[in-house]
Amino acid sequence: MFRKMFIGRNGPDHLSFGLMILAFILSFIQWPYMFIIWILIIVLAILRMFSKNIEQRRKENFAFLRVVNKPKTWYYKCKVRHKQRKIYKVFKCPECFQKLRVPRGKGKVLIRCSKCGHKITKVT
Ligand SMILES: [Zn+2]
Repeated sequence: MFRKMFIGRNGPDHLSFGLMILAFILSFIQWPYMFIIWILIIVLAILRMFSKNIEQRRKENFAFLRVVNKPKTWYYKCKVRHKQRKIYKVFKCPECFQKLRVPRGKGKVLIRCSKCGHKITKVT
């Protein structure tokens, strides 16, 4: 029955769940007119679920996911970089600012940028 409700409609997606979570968080704020914002957010989430303009809702959801996933990606990149800090040394190409990862403890090495081909000499 639950599935039949969403035939030909957008259905629940990440942005709708995000809006519900936002409404849940806002429900803890003690402000006299907060319930209006709270209801508007929930109505918006429900309208999105029952929208027949699936293409537009998908675009909105994709934009939402791109914003939400940015800090996640940054965090995982930092984690990987921290793990590899004793194995690799990272330099930046002076020409194109591409990050270049070189194994540590190899002495003086000639590094060729993988992006622009610029060569730099560094001690690892
Ligand atoms: Zn370069």
